[in-house]
Amino acid sequence: MHDDRELIEGRLARTLQRLEDAVWSDPEPVELGRWDAPGAPVSVREGLAAEHSPCAVGDAWGPPWGTTWFRVTGTVPPRHAGRVVDLRLDLGFDPERTGFHAEGLVYRPDGTPVKGLHPRSPWVRVSEAAAGEEVDLHVEAASNPLLLGGGGYDFRPSPLGDHRTAGNEPLYRLARAELAVFEAQVWELQQDLEVLGELAAELPLDDARRWEVLRALDRAMDRLDVADLAGTAVAARDELLEVLAAPARASAHRISAVGHAHIDSAWLWPVRETVRKVARTCANVTDLMDQHPELVFAMSSAQQYAWLRDHRPEVWARVVERVAQGRFVPVGGMWVESDTNLPGGEALVRQLSHGKRFFLDELGIETREVWLPDSFGYTAALPQLVALSGSRWFLTQKISWNTTNRFPHHTFSWEGLDGTRVLTHFPSADTYGSQISGSEVAHAARNFSEKGAATRSLLPFGWGDGGGGPTREMLARAARLRDLDGSPRVEIERPDTFFERAEAEYADPPVWVGELYLEMHRGTYTSQARTKQGNRRSEHLLREAELWAATAAVRLGSVYPLERLDRLWKVVLLNQFHDILPGSSTTWVHREAVAAYADVATELEDIIEGAQRALAGEGDVEVAFNAAPHARAGVAAMGAAVPGSEPAPEPTRRADGDGWLLDNGLVRARVDARGLLTSVVHSASGREALAPGGLGNLLQLHADTPVRFDAWDIDPYYRRSVEDLTELGDGGSVQPVGTGLRVTRTFGASRAVQQVTLPRGEARVDVDTEVDWQERESLLKAGFELDVSTDHSTAEIQFGHVHRPTHANTSWDAARFEICAHRWVHVGEPGFGCAVVNDSTYGHDVTRAPRAGGGTSSRVRLSLLRAPRSPDPVADTGVHRLTYALVPGAGIPDAVREGYRVNLPLRVVHGNGRAIAPLVSVDRDGVVVESVKLADDGSGDVVVRVYESQGSRVTARVAPGFDTRAVVVVDLLERPLEGSGDSVVTEPGGAVRLELRPFEVLALRWQRS
Ligand SMILES: [Zn+2]
Repeated sequence: MHDDRELIEGRLARTLQRLEDAVWSDPEPVELGRWDAPGAPVSVREGLAAEHSPCAVGDAWGPPWGTTWFRVTGTVPPRHAGRVVDLRLDLGFDPERTGFHAEGLVYRPDGTPVKGLHPRSPWVRVSEAAAGEEVDLHVEAASNPLLLGGGGYDFRPSPLGDHRTAGNEPLYRLARAELAVFEAQVWELQQDLEVLGELAAELPLDDARRWEVLRALDRAMDRLDVADLAGTAVAARDELLEVLAAPARASAHRISAVGHAHIDSAWLWPVRETVRKVARTCANVTDLMDQHPELVFAMSSAQQYAWLRDHRPEVWARVVERVAQGRFVPVGGMWVESDTNLPGGEALVRQLSHGKRFFLDELGIETREVWLPDSFGYTAALPQLVALSGSRWFLTQKISWNTTNRFPHHTFSWEGLDGTRVLTHFPSADTYGSQISGSEVAHAARNFSEKGAATRSLLPFGWGDGGGGPTREMLARAARLRDLDGSPRVEIERPDTFFERAEAEYADPPVWVGELYLEMHRGTYTSQARTKQGNRRSEHLLREAELWAATAAVRLGSVYPLERLDRLWKVVLLNQFHDILPGSSTTWVHREAVAAYADVATELEDIIEGAQRALAGEGDVEVAFNAAPHARAGVAAMGAAVPGSEPAPEPTRRADGDGWLLDNGLVRARVDARGLLTSVVHSASGREALAPGGLGNLLQLHADTPVRFDAWDIDPYYRRSVEDLTELGDGGSVQPVGTGLRVTRTFGASRAVQQVTLPRGEARVDVDTEVDWQERESLLKAGFELDVSTDHSTAEIQFGHVHRPTHANTSWDAARFEICAHRWVHVGEPGFGCAVVNDSTYGHDVTRAPRAGGGTSSRVRLSLLRAPRSPDPVADTGVHRLTYALVPGAGIPDAVREGYRVNLPLRVVHGNGRAIAPLVSVDRDGVVVESVKLADDGSGDVVVRVYESQGSRVTARVAPGFDTRAVVVVDLLERPLEGSGDSVVTEPGGAVRLELRPFEVLALRWQRS
């Protein structure tokens, strides 16, 4: 039985199918030629000039990652005179898979780009009225393989992701190539029916408006002659005029829609393909702007604009023109849409400074919002950096992916680590790629958390990742939804207009304090360990290179390698993109990232070595260079000196029953016959760091089989299957080496070799690890059972640290079962604590356990390696080298210091023995120098960034080790920072006395005299 409603809805669906087939009529064939470019993409000039061979509709084309240049020639026939004529080109598209597979960019013979070809935009306008036009177009078609299966995000391990394993079988068949008349009224009717049908479906059954719309739809369909849809479309549309003219209700939610195309800078395709994805999408968008003056399009990522400028200058010119008109809107102010959990503090600074400077220099635009719709959680350091970059708003929506807790706000004030607040918005449609469908806009209104207090949300619309961005159908929907009874009001607006209005109407938004933890994708702290290690190394090498090159420039007048450093920084910044550094890309992408990091390291080592040699001078006296922010024995902080005169005692090792005792005067550690730490005594306090019966450096193997997103997720049930690697295994051994021990352990098909040593003069137990990792879908953890009773752990993040609970009292606590830390995590009780520091690891978990003898102990674990199978089927296989260490008796200041030390080993160079004074000194250990460099503008000014690292209010004196003329506090772009004068006192000689709030970041810029 059908009731009226079901009958009308069924009739509507059938009618829409008929209309879809009638949008184009009267086809006329075209001539086709093709040239299959060998290997990597060629230049446009080469593609246009190639010798084409004949081809036809139905032909197979496109091996994985190939490029085929099609040439299309034809003539608009006389019978098309006076009609609108399109060239329809279907490369073999799957309209349900917009983006992620084949794409094309259409050129004229002179190389002028026309527009992109995509599943939802498979046409090129060739004539508006005349006839007899000659059509001569070229299509650069990319046969990118589809790596997403099924519906939604279905990732199966696939060899197609890597051109080395993808094979040569053609993936696509040319499905259509013809000239055809575009039946505008049929298309308009299609839009009317879709919008009204979707509106009715979202309204309550007992809402009179729903029935009003349904009846009007029924009448419109009555007027339609299926044998002459084009001839009767206008009459059908007439029946809908009244329901389309009914204005929105006074309380209707307001949606600021902005054209968008989220283009991942690499993911299921390599960077080289993103360059072309950006070009196709931008060609499409600027073409659509020509026909639709209302279209406003926002695009983030300075890197993507730079690719356009460098690789597709004709498309770039069109973008520049539209930017000047305010319709193509640069947003985000970052080099790429980076991850924010993993990049270091200085790297986040550079994401913002390089991003914003590009938009300023190239386009004259100062962006005001940070735009990260898709990154996997947001660090508590971000609000301060947003503000220091000169921006004031933040946008994401990823937190709507939380699997445990619903985030309570959509528009709110986000308070960061240091207390800075930034107005933040999560689009309540829960998407950054809307089609402006009825269900999406209705969901945006219903879902909006601030109802009654605020009235508007942002809606980024358009196909991303090579889907081509906004379509004319989306614009048609937006036009009909501007002011329509029963619907939210949809207005196409710039993001800054939205934020200004949201800010103005919501004077007292709710406040969210601290990190925006994504309750999902916790595996991204660990997946693709080589990529993560490359990032960590690069960040520290960049610190060293800038420090020593600046020192050599100031002390010796050496040339500061500004352009080289700029270029190297941008390589590192690109690889912090939110699918590269998190480890969620293909084999190909990660292979390229690791190779890029190796090149970066080579160049930076060269810069460091050159600067240090110049500073050390000629001679054979050993000079130690310390790039860490704290002094070491005989070596100044951030400076170099001859090694100290009183070396610490040599560490010792002696047999102890069936194990060994290691002692360096600061720490005494016992290693048993199985190679496990069974006791770690902090000599100064005499306190045992390990819990009674607890083990240190216990490797543990978990089955790691997430439900949906292999590389992204660790699901909570992983903890229920664990193998403690207490045995040495076949071929395993514990051997004395130097003053420490070498523990060789085999498990599964893998083998770990660990050097356990107590470093001379430092209160640590170092574990240098080499793992030949051959497990699949497993997670390798290293754990320390510590005799510390606490309800929280402390983890280093950018420019400070955050506390997280070690219990699971609430659903919010429980959801944080895996956490991200930078160089250290710490657990402590008053008077005693321990830190676990690392040189490559980000993923951790810290839990509590009953302690033998009463109370609780703390179990700190590092997530060393995973082995997901998609998108990279061989992720993390092979040999890894990494270091971690236990620091018994550590307070937070010790954790900060040791974290830097393990990442910045001393470098010893031979020289003349002359002392080299540090370029800058700070009189408080808690105030850490994060970077020393020469100014980006080439002026030769010295820029020093410091931050308060302990979470306390402090006064500190920062003194330059060179003659100065003036000093100013600057923002992240090294511009004078407004309103910064109050807490800064300048002394004669250029030293500066600063009052810093907890975790404050502050940069000083000295002009040299
Ligand atoms: Zn993304």
